[in-house]
Amino acid sequence: MCGFVGIIGVERASAALSMSLQALQHRGQDACGMATVEQGRFHVHKDLGLVVNVFSEHTLSALRGTAGIGHTRYPTVGTGVREDAQPFCTRRPGVVMAHNGNVTNLDDLETLLLTRGIHVQSKCDVEPILLIFAEALTQRRPSGHTLDDVVHAVREVFRLVRGAYSCVAICEVDGKETLVAFRDPHGIRPGSYGRSASGGWIAASETIVMDALGFTVVADLPIGAVVVMRPNEEATIVSIEPDTPRPCVFERIYFARPDSLMAEGRVNSTRWAMGKRLGEEWARKGLQADVVVPVPDTSRTAAQAMAEVLGLPYREGFIKNRYSGRTFIMPDAAARQAAHRLKLNPIPEIFEGKRVILVDDSVVRGTTIRRLADLAHLTRPEAVHMAVYSPPVRHPCYYGIDMPSKKELVAARLPEHEWASAFGVDSVTFLSLEGLRETMGGTICMACFDGEYAVPVSSGEVAAIVADRRGT
Ligand code: SF4
Repeated sequence: MCGFVGIIGVERASAALSMSLQALQHRGQDACGMATVEQGRFHVHKDLGLVVNVFSEHTLSALRGTAGIGHTRYPTVGTGVREDAQPFCTRRPGVVMAHNGNVTNLDDLETLLLTRGIHVQSKCDVEPILLIFAEALTQRRPSGHTLDDVVHAVREVFRLVRGAYSCVAICEVDGKETLVAFRDPHGIRPGSYGRSASGGWIAASETIVMDALGFTVVADLPIGAVVVMRPNEEATIVSIEPDTPRPCVFERIYFARPDSLMAEGRVNSTRWAMGKRLGEEWARKGLQADVVVPVPDTSRTAAQAMAEVLGLPYREGFIKNRYSGRTFIMPDAAARQAAHRLKLNPIPEIFEGKRVILVDDSVVRGTTIRRLADLAHLTRPEAVHMAVYSPPVRHPCYYGIDMPSKKELVAARLPEHEWASAFGVDSVTFLSLEGLRETMGGTICMACFDGEYAVPVSSGEVAAIVADRRGT
């Protein structure tokens, strides 16, 4: 999972990108980068670390131009080195690009590019996308590219690149600096675009970037299509290869900020609906409880909805150390374990002598839920019931979330009747698959829950993805 932003037609792109990347920091904390464009010349700066540490005022002042692209990285492939950080650029023709997603046929693409005499130099999967895009442009003509050439280049990307990808690029089109955004034919990874009152355009992973900069959200980036944006002109949208929409439901459950807007509405509203449905399903089990406690921060909305449905008090029972990282997003097991110990502290009065429902967003490896239960038990509750507003994760994700092999997934590893004792709780209730489907409506990707992959992944591709994962 990563965050991307592209912007054009602003006074100082680096300042706007710096704010945008801070808004997108939750989507990746491993590395970040920025490229601005000044009269055809690229200025690039990228490094490992958080946005506020990588970009000083001095660095930002050297990133001149009124257009640019930024990226925050959450590594799913590669070795996590600075060279794999985005954005990437080509010289022939001049294109700069960043993306969020995961390409599943990386090896095939690298082989194909090699046969064309083009070497991929990083482990970052936006590089082959960029090289295919740039080569398709050059095949048309060496310079002076037109909108039609860009459509041809994106069509070539859709033809060759498999997996999930939402991309932004800047290049010269019809003799003008142009922001180009495209999203894979299933629209698995999110992306939206917006405009400013002064004629600027923006495309980003989440709409919170537009809120922060005072831009107006126009819409989700259309799937299987390219959006071409230039200052003080209307955006041009060309539909190329739209397929069945399969947006990632895990974005709604966990990754996206609740104040972001996605196709079906505000993420906060979606989480509320999931919590409400979970409350209804929990009530049908005939269990009894005294209080509903969220696992901060993501689960608050769903826990409130669940408490409302069950007519129970909602209480904050865990205090989160706001200066520790998100455990799920940390790249290795040892770091995740240490971070978790620092992360939460229970308030004894909320738990003591009570039958508590702990609400969490998801269970992936099962280590977090076990530690939460252990923490809760320190406070002598009468019972601890775990309620999760997503179904059990039984299958790996190949589209950009770091849960690569089945053997890491506790719900795939253990039979259902062993879950409660393995987690150290009195009962565990997951939102049902049909509950999630009905809550979301429409078609979605929920392959990590039901194993139905929008883009089939061959066993060779699976092996290559697993081998490429960091720390797993
Ligand atoms: S498999 Fe799961 S995490 Fe991956 S894109 Fe689909 S819903 Fe999202």
